[in-house]
Amino acid sequence: MPRLPDLALSDGAVDFIDEDRFAALLAAPRPDAARVRDVIARSLAKQPLTVEETAVLLGADTPDLQQELFAAARTLKETVYGNRIVLFAPLYIGNDCVNECLYCAFRHSNADEVRRTLDAAEIRRQVEALEQRGHKRLILVFGEHPRYDADFIHDCVRLVYGVRVGPGAIRRVNINAAPQDIAGYRRIKAAGIGTFQVFQETYHHATYAAMHPRHTRKGDYLYRLDALSRAQEAGIDDVGIGALFGLYDWRFEVLALVAHARHLQERYGVGPHTISFPRVRPALGVALDERWKVSDADFRRLVAILRLAVPYTGLILTAREPAELRRELLGFGVSQIDAGTRIELGGYTEAGDAQCMEREQFELGDIRSLDAVLGELVTDGYLPSFCTACYRLGRTGEHFMEFAIPGFIKRFCTPNALLTAAEYLRDYASPETRAAGERLIAAELERIEEGPLKAELLDRLRQIRETDRRDLYF
Ligand code: SF4
Ligand code: SF4
Repeated sequence: MPRLPDLALSDGAVDFIDEDRFAALLAAPRPDAARVRDVIARSLAKQPLTVEETAVLLGADTPDLQQELFAAARTLKETVYGNRIVLFAPLYIGNDCVNECLYCAFRHSNADEVRRTLDAAEIRRQVEALEQRGHKRLILVFGEHPRYDADFIHDCVRLVYGVRVGPGAIRRVNINAAPQDIAGYRRIKAAGIGTFQVFQETYHHATYAAMHPRHTRKGDYLYRLDALSRAQEAGIDDVGIGALFGLYDWRFEVLALVAHARHLQERYGVGPHTISFPRVRPALGVALDERWKVSDADFRRLVAILRLAVPYTGLILTAREPAELRRELLGFGVSQIDAGTRIELGGYTEAGDAQCMEREQFELGDIRSLDAVLGELVTDGYLPSFCTACYRLGRTGEHFMEFAIPGFIKRFCTPNALLTAAEYLRDYASPETRAAGERLIAAELERIEEGPLKAELLDRLRQIRETDRRDLYF
């Protein structure tokens, strides 16, 4: 693959995507049911799966085995994660871009796209609007452009943390931006970020080359594949990987995501914090062939198999997907969703109810409000969480702790989810959502055994409900 001369890699950077091996695994005869069940059992014992084992699950394509996969993903989700769902919102800062990704409305040559970079006052207004709706966790999204350098990203993060409206505050800022060099990551880390996301989009080399012209920065496959290794070397151990499904064979991309997760785990002792698996959506001026389009049926398999393959990694399902499918897939092990999302630049204050395609990267499937999504979650028995405690207390590797430290979820995650949900209900919820949410909190409290932890939790809930005290966490 072509390399651009000025882009330095991490020490020992390597292309770990072995296409021949993946192709051989995907071409293997259908595995027998006993082998599939063995792999499922390993996953339910919380063992991350190898690429080969993941291929076994991908080969399980009979209706019966698929149902077993779905059931196992549900079990893993329920017994390990419980019923928490973390909520966040994206905030697009600027859509200037030097790249030419064929699937993206923001690509440099798309003259129909309205270009804009929010200035400080505009960012402040967007964050105020998000805080007024109850958001606590944001991901800032940037195109790839020299003006969005590490200093610019750093300053945006600091600006966001400084915005306060009433009881509102953004407590965790994640980043989705162009790959940085090590110095750039260090600068951005110093602003106090949570996760840094870089998606490979497609791990298949020829497809990558076809989608990302070689003269562009993004045309350098290895520089992008190595992006989060450099982040690790710069001290950012909280990274998010992802693939854009619909560019190439979804089964190949699943194997590659697992290979990427294992590569980071083996090399740095910590796997990715999250995996994202967006599907290609309609976008202004984009006409892709639909050969690799992922059907809803395959998408369900994809989510269930990822859940089983990487039990320590959060799965993010975004508002690209329609509301009904999102609702269904929560049961398969998704752990984070965005809500109340607008992706037009300035969309949280300027957009009406309809989407504006000239101003967004792609079309969303779910533009319900945070309150509507949260109301549905609590009605369905999910506990919404805005928890940011581990990041704030310097407890890193948090997904690993959730699994590996006995009682961690009971002692920390569930109480913190309850406290942040109670804050939302008190400060921002509609009467219907508040009533449904309080019923859920009462039911959750019933399940917590009596003792000092519960007494402390009840006292903190009382403070939230009766006083102005906020941001109480374990
Ligand atoms: Fe630019 Fe990202 Fe769009 Fe590619 S996907 S054109 S890098 S904004
Ligand atoms: Fe995540 Fe830590 Fe909060 Fe648990 S306590 S939900 S691991 S941030």
